[in-house]
Amino acid sequence: MEQKENVCLCNLCESCIHVFKEEHMLDSSCDLNCFALNDCPHKKRKYCAKCKQVLDPEPSEEDFNQDLELLESALNNKNLKVICYTAPSIRVSIGDEFGFKPGENVEGKMVAALKQLGFYQVFDMNTAADFTILEEAHEFVERYKNNKNLPMFTSCCPGWVNYAKKVYPELIKNLSTCKSPQQMFGSLLNTYYAEKHGFKSTEMFVVSIVPCLAKKLELKQAELNTNVGQDVDLAITTKEISRFMRAKNIDLKNLADENFDDFFGSSTGAGAIFGNTGGVTEAVLRTIGDTLSVNEKISLEYQMVRGIDSIRKAEIKFGKEKIRIAVVMGLKNIPLIIEELKKNPKKYHFVEVMACSGGCIGGGGQTSIDGVSPATLIEYRAKGLYECELKREHRKAHLNPAVQDIYKNYLGKIGGRNAKRILHRKYK
Ligand code: SF4
Repeated sequence: MEQKENVCLCNLCESCIHVFKEEHMLDSSCDLNCFALNDCPHKKRKYCAKCKQVLDPEPSEEDFNQDLELLESALNNKNLKVICYTAPSIRVSIGDEFGFKPGENVEGKMVAALKQLGFYQVFDMNTAADFTILEEAHEFVERYKNNKNLPMFTSCCPGWVNYAKKVYPELIKNLSTCKSPQQMFGSLLNTYYAEKHGFKSTEMFVVSIVPCLAKKLELKQAELNTNVGQDVDLAITTKEISRFMRAKNIDLKNLADENFDDFFGSSTGAGAIFGNTGGVTEAVLRTIGDTLSVNEKISLEYQMVRGIDSIRKAEIKFGKEKIRIAVVMGLKNIPLIIEELKKNPKKYHFVEVMACSGGCIGGGGQTSIDGVSPATLIEYRAKGLYECELKREHRKAHLNPAVQDIYKNYLGKIGGRNAKRILHRKYK
């Protein structure tokens, strides 16, 4: 692909100001390929901040204070129900800051700590990942059967979505219209949950705890909100919530495990692996397989999409159907796929793109451990998530009884009108 001179290829990162100040970092390991560029004409520097992790491991005091002050003030407001949910990858990274082994799953202690901080309810974003899988698999099968807008690109990484909107606007029709799990959960809280409890949206303050700075910007996009106002009020990174816990003298290591609140039931192994590169594809394949090939025993594991190669490709057979997929890790690798598609638009049916190394386990808002390389952390966190999924009762999202129940009693059909209203988005 021809390099677009003097145009910031990503316009995703709020920290390129640091890059241009610090010339010696220009050859650093940014996944987003912006370091090679001379100048950023946009001057806005928002969205991903993966390079912030490379250049400035600690968020600045100003960043830290602003969002955590907002969180503290919400938690102190007796008129607000402050509800949080944690992204799939947080349970295997937050322990870094409290002396746990790299990649150790500290889900129960994390929930206990969040309850101690005063959250009204603490939910697992893995449940929203299950909804994403169902909607995305359904959307894919529709497009595949009608041979329309293929390949379908995943849409759960706001770093990638922002990049696609700016650099490849011609691909917008190929992006899945599913909201990300952060936004799906926000919408479900402001509709289904609020209605069941008789809460007004204004009485709730919804906080997502995420590995990612791009999600801080995502929640402000008007087209992602179901109601007037934001569905998600605040996104707090792993690093920020860890610092907040320490500031409140919470000793994660010595807390007894607690369970997530169970209003949304439990989640499946498919949702659990969403934090790994290739995890979205593997989870969606399990559901696509059962949809396209009802009489065949469908594989649960797709080793060919796991790992940390920048691009992984596979052809998966379901009955008579052969689905060609690509998994892309790091935005700098996208031009290779685009080149292939220019030569052969039918080369792939499904393409997953995650902006960060390793996927969300390597996100710009994640924690780090002195003396442990990012690559090692990614390896252990990936292992932690694959182990986590084995403990789940179900490993296919469509077998989640709680999710089935919410469709039956509230959302209606997967991909139907109401599900589209609440769980899908438009692109502006
Ligand atoms: Fe955020 Fe995950 Fe995308 Fe990185 S890969 S930008 S952490 S959603």
